[in-house]
Amino acid sequence: MNNKIYFTPGPSELYPTVPQHMQTALEEKIGSISHRSKQFQDIFAHAVAGLRQLLQLPDNYEVLFLASATEIWERAIQNNVKQESFHLVNGSFSDRFFETAQELGRTAQQHKAPFSQGFDVEAIRVPETAELVALIHNETSSGACMPVQDINRFREKASPEALIYVDAVSSLPNPAFDYDKVDAVYFSVQKCFGLPAGLGVWLVNERCIAKAEALAADGQVIGSYHSLPAILSKAKVNQTVETPNVLDIYLLGNVLEDMNSKGVATIREETEAKAAQVYQYLTQSKIFTPAVENPAHRSPTTIVANTTVPASEVNKQLAAFDMAVGSGYGKHKETQIRIANFPAHSPALMEALVAKLQELFG
Ligand SMILES: *Cc1c(COP(=O)(O)O)cnc(C)c1O
Repeated sequence: MNNKIYFTPGPSELYPTVPQHMQTALEEKIGSISHRSKQFQDIFAHAVAGLRQLLQLPDNYEVLFLASATEIWERAIQNNVKQESFHLVNGSFSDRFFETAQELGRTAQQHKAPFSQGFDVEAIRVPETAELVALIHNETSSGACMPVQDINRFREKASPEALIYVDAVSSLPNPAFDYDKVDAVYFSVQKCFGLPAGLGVWLVNERCIAKAEALAADGQVIGSYHSLPAILSKAKVNQTVETPNVLDIYLLGNVLEDMNSKGVATIREETEAKAAQVYQYLTQSKIFTPAVENPAHRSPTTIVANTTVPASEVNKQLAAFDMAVGSGYGKHKETQIRIANFPAHSPALMEALVAKLQELFG
């Protein structure tokens, strides 16, 4: 039996109701039902309706299920870019989307900010030829977060035809986006939704769909089974092209129902309060300091700290109390820790972590 609480930034602690939904799924034999059945269509529709409610998603957005956020990077470029994309890069995840565009033979341009920093949006010039502008709300590798009001400024910075994409993989449902100011938002379920990995969710508006159709009509290869029009034609009838991760879609619908009965406002208030508590501690700690200097750019959902005690040693000591935090990303593995502050981490759990860190390390 593993009693550890995972404050790792994805996969992370499961949302507290997941075991009970998993049990029901087994009793109902969800893993055996046909993905062409009415039962599956209801599961699909339940998840989509729950997400629309939680995010207050406007009607001109479609909800599409893919394998992961990594897959969505590839599909976004294939379906929405003929020649050129433009990327804000300040860490490993934003850099990977940029590289994906290059690997697919597009001209990708980037505006780079140093690791651990947010962006000075005022200073960013978006090339007029950029068809897709890739923003990252929450750079999970560094803990830098982009304020929603900064995201909202890109519509006027980019050409009117450009599609604004937001990576919100490790922050949704915390940010309250203005969905009219962007065109696509995506996430995967193993971060803030507290589910087992294996499902990416792509929210796209009609402009993204029109662009994919135009590129296809123009003779561009926009993919095969997971081209945007192919996924969409199935989604319209609450189905997927392939045999999907039915269990995860089922669990997502049920966790969304739980989150909706709690209310997104409460989830967001709790997230902000827990983040304030953690940053307060980090600022006073003897061995930790917040990695992101500008408080306006500090992520509420993935909190990164520099540490003078190696991250492996921090986790070794926490393990005795059934707790784990994330190590630093890549070359920061030992010099930083990352603390996930997701809806699955209740205020009581977060308080217990902070108290234990304080007791062990000061
Ligand atoms: C985890 C993560 C991804 C990749 O998600 P996968 O589900 O592993 O494909 C992309 N962007 C950010 C910001 C992430 O944190």
